[in-house]
Amino acid sequence: MKYVLVTGGVVSGLGKGVTASSIGLLLQACGLRVTAIKIDPYLNTDAGTMSPIEHGEVFVLDDGGEVDLDLGNYERFMDIKLTRDNNITTGKIYQYVIEKERRGDYLGKTVQVVPHITDAIQEWIERVAHIPVDGKAGPADVCVIELGGTIGDIESMPFIQALGQFSYRVGAGNFCAVHVSLVPVLNVVGEQKTKPTQHSVRGLRGQGLTPHILACRSTTVLDESAKGKLSQFCLIPGENIITLYDVPNIWHIPLLLRDQKAHEAIFKVLNLKGMTQEPDLKEWTRRAESCDMLHEPVRIALVGKYTCLSDSYLSILKALVHASVGWHQKLLVDWVSATDLEEETAKENHDAYKAAWKLLKGADGVLVPGGFGDRGVQGKMVAVKYARENRIPFLGICLGMQIAVLEFARSVLGVHDAASTEFDPKTKSPYVIFMPEGSKTHMGGTMRLGSRRTFFQTKECKTAKLYGCKSFIDERHRHRYEVNPDVVARLENAGLSFTGKDETGQRMEIVELPNHPYFVGVQFHPEFKSRPGKPSPVFFGFIGAACGKLDAVHHYSNGVGNDISAAAKTYQNGTPTKPAFRAEYANGNCNGNGNGLHY
Ligand code: GLN
Repeated sequence: MKYVLVTGGVVSGLGKGVTASSIGLLLQACGLRVTAIKIDPYLNTDAGTMSPIEHGEVFVLDDGGEVDLDLGNYERFMDIKLTRDNNITTGKIYQYVIEKERRGDYLGKTVQVVPHITDAIQEWIERVAHIPVDGKAGPADVCVIELGGTIGDIESMPFIQALGQFSYRVGAGNFCAVHVSLVPVLNVVGEQKTKPTQHSVRGLRGQGLTPHILACRSTTVLDESAKGKLSQFCLIPGENIITLYDVPNIWHIPLLLRDQKAHEAIFKVLNLKGMTQEPDLKEWTRRAESCDMLHEPVRIALVGKYTCLSDSYLSILKALVHASVGWHQKLLVDWVSATDLEEETAKENHDAYKAAWKLLKGADGVLVPGGFGDRGVQGKMVAVKYARENRIPFLGICLGMQIAVLEFARSVLGVHDAASTEFDPKTKSPYVIFMPEGSKTHMGGTMRLGSRRTFFQTKECKTAKLYGCKSFIDERHRHRYEVNPDVVARLENAGLSFTGKDETGQRMEIVELPNHPYFVGVQFHPEFKSRPGKPSPVFFGFIGAACGKLDAVHHYSNGVGNDISAAAKTYQNGTPTKPAFRAEYANGNCNGNGNGLHY
């Protein structure tokens, strides 16, 4: 097993995660099998309890792990499936060591950061690196390890110490350290400044880690004098200094690395020279480039609670991008704060209310994502009502689906007090209820997390067709509450259709309105399994409907499945209602407004 460590210096938010993912992808393109580990030096045992506003979204894995959003980047770039153990936190390591100490496993020794914590970190890395993540048997060839935070952080010190020991343990030729740093350009002089990077590398060396490769974030390519200084002061050969300059979208990063021969520098360090193929990134290049040329817009209103930080809905944005690129549309996301749509806001801040409604009314599609807590629920409810009544394509995810069901019960069935027991525990009309898979009395650990199976109830519905008429699908979940099975018959009689259920038939997984252009609610989170080139079918259908193209392909019997090229073919072979579509399709269009495509 070979290891590539990615650390960060100078400032946070440099795009270390995307760099690590891009390195992984580049190595895969050279024919290697790659896995990835993210180290988060915070004390939380996992990301499950962290607010999306503080730390970005909580990413959910097949095994139910609630992890850092960088694992989502790895899964998307490398098309792999990770486990919860691929995310190491200080909390997890200390918990493991303290449990061992309580069992008496340290035989009376004083338990210390060095060697006990540092040993535990190394054992963990080695164990997890050997778990296959690409569906093939046996361990990967290379494990990319990303250390979160910035060199100099107090929390990351035990990890750097452990990684220094680890590099020594696995030996030269098996360990390559890449340091991602910032080279700022001062406006006054317009000169690329290398000093922050020099200091950062010195800090890293001081803690026992020697970087082999420097990846410098800068607005433009590093000039020769800056490169020379870095090489001289950081003791790193010039060919191992890469510039990650600004690019139109993040899919260009692997190409940037390839063009600067980062793979060759890594292979030299890892003694893999001559043992791999030239990187094959044809498909990836085509997608990155076509994405820059997209121009025909599709405007999506994202009606959420955490609209102040786009990372809160990172996977949703990515899934929207994947689907839009699939339809050759330029994605424009309008962030609508759910509370701004509420009548209360109309009284207090009329401008915000007016602006929010203007965005909603200008949208080609309305998306209501998942969430917890009752803030903004009324606003989401009116957004759903607007989409349903005006036949605007709608996608409701998790809480978004629950709200769609409540809105239907209230407006169509006339059950004006239909509610979720999450927000109104004593409601007389519990349409959404707490349905734990395990204990009903203990809240802790009652979340329904990870991959669960959904069985289609009919093949004659939009979602079944979009999923390729499979009889069942596996998607990831993260929720406690569900549609009350006792009210399903009433809702169905009134025209709502529960087209996907779990194996018991008691849990409603997919809801659709058959006579609407696209009105789909899903209890699961399809965004977590969306990939570039393989968009999530429900997102693909949503964007297709929002740009008016879905009907043109919807006669197909095989569906689009998970394969975008099949979808594209179906579309080309189909009989588009407007001839212009064909030309548009051939020309391509869509960038994403910076949304979801930043570093
Ligand atoms: N709060 C809702 C529940 O627990 C929805 C969760 C979500 O949207 N992820 O069921």
